[in-house]
Amino acid sequence: MYQALYRKWRPQSFEDMVGQEPITTTLKNEIRQGRPAHAYLLVGSRGTGKTSCARLIAKAVNCLSPQDGNPCGTCEICRGIDSEDILDVVEIDAASNNGVDSIRDLREETNFLPNIAKYRVYIMDEAHMLSQGAVNALLKVLEEPPEHISAYSLIPEEGTPLYDRYEKGILELPDEDADREMYQETKRVLGRAGYERYEISNYAKKGYACRHNCGYWQRKNYVGFGIGAASLKENVRFRNRTDLDGYLQDPLGCREEVQVLSRQEQMEEFMFLGLRMTEGVSPAEFGHLFGHSMEDVYGKVIRNNVEDGLLQYLEEPNSDAVKPGSQEGGVVKPTDGMRLALTDRGLDLSNYVMAQFLL
Ligand SMILES: [Zn+2]
Repeated sequence: MYQALYRKWRPQSFEDMVGQEPITTTLKNEIRQGRPAHAYLLVGSRGTGKTSCARLIAKAVNCLSPQDGNPCGTCEICRGIDSEDILDVVEIDAASNNGVDSIRDLREETNFLPNIAKYRVYIMDEAHMLSQGAVNALLKVLEEPPEHISAYSLIPEEGTPLYDRYEKGILELPDEDADREMYQETKRVLGRAGYERYEISNYAKKGYACRHNCGYWQRKNYVGFGIGAASLKENVRFRNRTDLDGYLQDPLGCREEVQVLSRQEQMEEFMFLGLRMTEGVSPAEFGHLFGHSMEDVYGKVIRNNVEDGLLQYLEEPNSDAVKPGSQEGGVVKPTDGMRLALTDRGLDLSNYVMAQFLL
């Protein structure tokens, strides 16, 4: 088969890209560490190897046996990209597809997972030829997808312009059913996109759950810095002063609003903060902390909510597999190591469930 000269002699590794060491070294390191960026902008005069470099990146991130950040050049993916048989690597001539509609189509496509390669790669040649509208549409794709997402359903606060519009009937709010449906849909969509729900309103890619938030719900000690920041230390909650001058004079010593939590308040917090977490609360930890079993203190509330399908015992933390505890005379009891957590229905009615844990 005839192969055009420029294709035959195209660089096969980043080392072949002569005169661009700082760039190729950076690229290779990122790829070797399995952390390629979401998008690369390759800028330079004609013939400096921008397109060749883009093709190398496409191969290197998808290669089945990469060699120190370089593509192997011989696996089926590398060969497929070379012969342009792999549809996950798309080359677009932006000069002739420079309208906003082309970019909108591309944006739709990027929502789908790649076919056989690990990553879908778009090589956009002549990107400077895109129309202004197309550039704006493209920005949406180039935005870095976040590792962490918080999704809250909000209500307008009295005294705000939004509330005024709501009161005058200009602004319509979704009813409770629509609100729940939106919550469940958010959960589904984010789940499909690889975000794990670790708290009622918080989602994260694996390993990116917010440590501070988790510490808050698990009632760990934390110290807040800055004016007005809250802290919890050995069951004392305090807030830093809210005036800057006073705070700066003694940043660590000034505490306003000190609240010493009673044993009862500690138990309440343990339940209604801990139950916000997807992993729920541990009856064993409760017993260890407070010297009373969860059953002694909250037995009736828990039983009622389990029977109503709002709470459940989970075998493992973070496990979606629901394994109900042993049934003894209609009473659901946890076995060792089980945790108490909200059910899907309980999530919808979480405020109602939590309120019952106030003693
Ligand atoms: Zn390869």
